[in-house]
Amino acid sequence: MNTNKKKKILFIGTGGTISSQNSGEGLSPAMDAQELLRYCPDIINYCDVECIQILNLDSTNMRPGHWIMMAQAIEENYNDYDGFVIAHGTDTMAYSASAVSYLIQDSPKPVVFTGAQKPIDVIGSDAIRNLTDAFIVASDDNSHGVQIVFFGSVICGTRARKNFSKSFGAFGSINFPEIARIQDGRIARFIVDDVPSKPKFYSYLNPNVGLIKLVPGMSADILNYIINQYDGIVVESFGVGGLPEYSDFYNQIKEAADKGKVVVMTTQVPSEGSNLGVYRVGSKLKDHLRILEAHDMTTESAITKLMWILGQAKDFDEAEALFYTTIYHDILYKD
Ligand code: ASP
Repeated sequence: MNTNKKKKILFIGTGGTISSQNSGEGLSPAMDAQELLRYCPDIINYCDVECIQILNLDSTNMRPGHWIMMAQAIEENYNDYDGFVIAHGTDTMAYSASAVSYLIQDSPKPVVFTGAQKPIDVIGSDAIRNLTDAFIVASDDNSHGVQIVFFGSVICGTRARKNFSKSFGAFGSINFPEIARIQDGRIARFIVDDVPSKPKFYSYLNPNVGLIKLVPGMSADILNYIINQYDGIVVESFGVGGLPEYSDFYNQIKEAADKGKVVVMTTQVPSEGSNLGVYRVGSKLKDHLRILEAHDMTTESAITKLMWILGQAKDFDEAEALFYTTIYHDILYKD
């Protein structure tokens, strides 16, 4: 359904390649949101836009505090706009979109992240298409929640991953269908959810969450060191999941759990997720230790969800209940 009333969208600039120019030492963010908009004259056909610039960073420099800034900028302006578009670097966009999905839940209004693989002032750049598509999606009556719009894909904020470092089709939707495709200004929707009625805003994350990627032959001592640095640890193991039996991995994880650290087991395989119960290397953990399993979640979502959970949970039971609560399609399988 289209109400035919022009939507009012807030455009939030944060930097990224889309806004970059050559600094003499390589590309670096230079243009602000207002300047980006000048390259996309068609957008006024779809919506009225106002701009704010909250950051101007290569997204390699983004940290959890910046995700909170993005969510706060939206919360402060929530009642004055129908939707939000965030221009963002592609490198850590999947983390930001996941984090903002936890900081702003059940949003009836859309929050659309986009960016580009080439700066907007480069001939043949993907920026104008991506930005125009992002505003069309943000202006659509059926859009809600946090999404990434990129090269025609509309991806749930909790399901995105940067799969290609150079190609225009950089983002994939992991273990979940794309919400929609957008082509020549038309949206084809594959997932149609009930629109939530009231958003929930959160303003705290515990950034003290780390990721360990196992490699064959690695010593468990490294685990011990890393575990001591963090309150929560995501372990990317192999295949459907498990821990090597040749070193002290099991006891290191047990000790971490006994100390009140929250450990999430996941896999470094790009698609289909974990299933710890299948092999002895995993079932031992699952049956005897108080740990969590990411199943079909992306690593980006598992990490940012853990940051959100550790910002509020009082004990492991609460952390577990929150982790296995589905938030904007982030986890489907929980057994
Ligand atoms: N390094 C850039 C960034 O993430 C890459 C990009 O935007 O495509 O900010």
